[in-house]
Amino acid sequence: ILRDAEQATGVQWAGYINGQWTAATSGATFPVYDPASRERLIDLPAMGAEETRAAIDAAQTAFATWQTTTARDRATVLHEWHRLLMANADVLARLMTLECGKPLAEARGEVAYGASFLRWFAEEASRTYGRVIPATMPGRRLMTQLQPVGVCGLITPWNFPNAMITRKVAPALAAGCTAVIKPAAETPLSALALAALGAQAGVPAGVCNIVLAPAAGAHHVGTALTTHPSVRKISFTGSTAVGKQLLAQAAQTVKRVSMELGGNAPLIVFASADLDQAVKGIMASKFRNSGQTCVCVNRIYVEASVLDALVAKLSAAVAAMRVGHGLAEGVTAGPLISAAGLEKVARHVDDAVAHGATVVTGGRPLPEHGPHFYAPTVLTGAADTMAVAREETFGPVAALFAFTSEAEAVRRANDTTCGLASYLFSQDVSQIARVTRALAYGMVGVNDGLISTEVAPFGGMKESGLGREGAAEGILEYMETKYIMLGGI
Ligand code: ADP
Repeated sequence: ILRDAEQATGVQWAGYINGQWTAATSGATFPVYDPASRERLIDLPAMGAEETRAAIDAAQTAFATWQTTTARDRATVLHEWHRLLMANADVLARLMTLECGKPLAEARGEVAYGASFLRWFAEEASRTYGRVIPATMPGRRLMTQLQPVGVCGLITPWNFPNAMITRKVAPALAAGCTAVIKPAAETPLSALALAALGAQAGVPAGVCNIVLAPAAGAHHVGTALTTHPSVRKISFTGSTAVGKQLLAQAAQTVKRVSMELGGNAPLIVFASADLDQAVKGIMASKFRNSGQTCVCVNRIYVEASVLDALVAKLSAAVAAMRVGHGLAEGVTAGPLISAAGLEKVARHVDDAVAHGATVVTGGRPLPEHGPHFYAPTVLTGAADTMAVAREETFGPVAALFAFTSEAEAVRRANDTTCGLASYLFSQDVSQIARVTRALAYGMVGVNDGLISTEVAPFGGMKESGLGREGAAEGILEYMETKYIMLGGI
C-alpha cells in the first residue's frame, strides 16, 4: 500500500518543508504502526524545534507572494487538489485504514469528506467580501476588507488523518495564509500523501509544510509553533488538556486560535421517538471509527418507558457488527488506535459493571483479532457518576442511562464541562424546539446521528473549544477584518 501511494501521489516518507522532502537534522526517526496488528509500517524523521522554525521561515517567505494571488487563482489550485484526492481516493483510503485502523468503507468516506473541504473553501475564497459602512460625517468613506492572518500552525489528531487537515488547510490557503502542519504521530502517512497531491495541484513551495514528530516529541513542535512571532494563528484539534496548554502558550504572542477539543456527547431518546431511527442514529454516531471521534455519542439517555424496546433493537444491531482488520471485506468495527485507548475502554466498562451496570452485549477485549480490539458493547443501568459518563470513552461502548422527564434529561445532558455535539430523537416538534434551544452544545443533531458536513459550522461551546470549522464561518477564522477610513473626500 505504501508503494502504491508513492506511485500514485509521488509522496516520499519524510517531512515536507519548502517543497522538499526533508529528513530530521538529527537523523532520528520514529516508527508508524498498523494499529490492528501492531506491525511496524515505516520509520519517519523525528523532527523538533529546529525543523519547525525552518518550516515557519519557509511559510513566512511564501506568504509574501501567496497572499497577493487572486482568490480565483487560489481556488483553481484547491479545486485541482480536490480533484486529485478524489482521483486517488482508493489508495488514500487504504493508506488511511492501514495507519488508523478504521474500516475501509469509512476511510473512503473520510477521503471524500476531506476532499469536500478543499472544494468548499475553493468556492468560499471568492466570497470573502468586505463592506462599505455609511459614514457618520460627510467627506468620509468607511470600509472593511478581509486579509489573511499570515502563517498558521495546524496541529491535528489521528482519528481523521485526512479530513482534520483539509478542514484547516483548505480555509487557510483559500484565505491566502500559509501553513505549517503537525500531523499526529500515529497517522502521518495520509498527511504526507495529501501534501504530495497538493504539490501536484500547484500549491507553491513553502505554502504548505509538514513537520513530523513522535508523540513524545510533539511538544517541541508545538512550543516552536505557539511561541514563534511569525506564526499568527494556531488551529488545533485534539485533547482538551493539550488544547489548554497550547492556548496558554499562544497567549504570550497573542495569536489567534481555533480549538476543537474533547466532547462528551449526549444522545437523548424521548418516548415519542421512532426507535428504529434512534438505533440507526446511535449506530452511526457511537460506532463510527470504533467510537473514536469527538462527536461520537458518549452518554445515551433513554426515556424509561421505551428503554427495554430500545435495548432490544440496539443490542441486536451491535451484536451484528463485523469485527476485524479494516482492510478486510465487510468489516464494520476496527481496532482502537493504541494499547492506551484499549485500556481506557476496558477501565470504563469494568468501572461501570463494578458500580451496577449490566453488559448486554460485548464487554471484553478481543485479542483473537489483534492487540487493540474491543468488542462493540452495550451497557444498561449506567449512572452519571461512572467513568463512562464523566469521561469521553473514545471506544465502542454504548452506555444507556434511564430518565423520566424532559427537564431531567436536559439537565443531565448539560452536566459536563464539554459542549461539542449532542443528539436527540423525538417526534414532538415543540419538544424538539425546546430541547435544541436548551442543550449547551455547539451542534445538535435531531433524529440523525451524522451531523458533520463541510457546509455547516462545526465547533464546540464551553471547554470543547473556540471557533468554527467548515461553512461560511470557517474561512473567517483565517482572516483579519481591516477597517479603512478614507477621509478628506
Ligand atoms: P489525542 O488524544 O487525540 O492523541 P492529543 O491532544 O494528545 O490528542 O493529540 C492531538 C495532536 O496534538 C497530535 O498531533 C499530537 O501529536 C499533538 N500534541 C500532543 N501534545 C502536544 C503538545 N504538548 N504540543 C503540541 N502538540 C501536541
